[in-house]
Amino acid sequence: MRELIRVELEGRGYDIHVGHGLLAEAGQLLKPFARGPVPVVTDMNVGEIHLAGLLDVCGHADIDARPVVVPPGEGSKSFSGLEQVTGALLDSGVDRGGLIVALGGGVIGDLTGFAAGVLKRGIAFAQIPTTLLAQVDSSVGGKTAINASQGKNLIGLFHQPRIVIADTALLATLPRRELLAGYAEVAKYGALGDRNFFEWLEASGGKALEGDKDALIHAVAHSCRMKADIVARDERESGERALLNLGHTFGHALEAATGFSDRLLHGEGVAIGMALAFRLSTKLGLCSGQDTERLSRHLRAMGLPSTISDIPGERPPADTLLAAMGHDKKVKDGKLVFILVRGLGQAFVASDVPIGAVRDVLKA
Ligand code: ADP
Ligand code: ZN
Repeated sequence: MRELIRVELEGRGYDIHVGHGLLAEAGQLLKPFARGPVPVVTDMNVGEIHLAGLLDVCGHADIDARPVVVPPGEGSKSFSGLEQVTGALLDSGVDRGGLIVALGGGVIGDLTGFAAGVLKRGIAFAQIPTTLLAQVDSSVGGKTAINASQGKNLIGLFHQPRIVIADTALLATLPRRELLAGYAEVAKYGALGDRNFFEWLEASGGKALEGDKDALIHAVAHSCRMKADIVARDERESGERALLNLGHTFGHALEAATGFSDRLLHGEGVAIGMALAFRLSTKLGLCSGQDTERLSRHLRAMGLPSTISDIPGERPPADTLLAAMGHDKKVKDGKLVFILVRGLGQAFVASDVPIGAVRDVLKA
């Protein structure tokens, strides 16, 4: 089974290929976009496991692939990481009409996409996402960025890839915790806009993560399709695209309060953040308690955290979290923008949320 999703953007549309074992076809899939030397940016972890396979199939397709390997982890999404990677890309001899390939998780995708976007004023790039998070989120929609000391993802641009190759077989080597964290973003799509998909996940999400190939492909493809549809309607996040931030205002605050450390992965923050957004919605009389309980139950059943007390170590104080929300880049006109829900699959943008209710939810 394989799925093809078209991201419809005028003049910049592209295909997302989702399937098990697609890396074997990456040579043919990349070939139409390749010209001259093709740098392949990856990190040391992913490189060790999957780079040789990609270089091999590129070789068979007569693509002159040149590996560029950077250290794993968020530290590479920095000015020094950018300097390093752009230097290596220039040294590779890639031409303005050429192609740069990102092989890795969100860190590699964000960094490589940004480097490709600014190098020689923009070089085409392709994404081969290797984490569940990157397959369903960061590789779709063209957001690229590095971090500033003032916050994450503050320096970046929109640069859409030419093609995305999401090989679900690559997820087999992903640490379990990373896989689960990525799953939070999958559950997010059901929670924000598709109750049927949420119900399918309740029944089959576990199977998808336990190795059922078709279930995993469906989970990834459906998530990509939902994101692609939203992005096609609102590429620059002037409206609907904001719904993709469900759970993220709370989540980012929790990540900040835990120092963006191993204590809380992004997806884990999103899981707790979604549960909080639902609780806040119920508290405001917008969403039934049953739906809120149902979301938390599914997250817990999958092995994800769903409350602040699930975070190991000292509990971040409500006021610290509120302050962190004020620094979230989704602040508009001094007001916190929250994505709330009227039920499972019915998210909407709320801009007049009383701060007291938010504090109560954070303290509960
Ligand atoms: P995210 O997509 O969650 O932003 P990162 O790019 O930070 O993730 O990747 C998370 C970690 O998992 C990194 O240490 C990375 O090297 C590693 N990793 C990514 N993809 C794979 C994979 N397919 N197999 C094993 N490890 C991987
Ligand atoms: Zn996210």
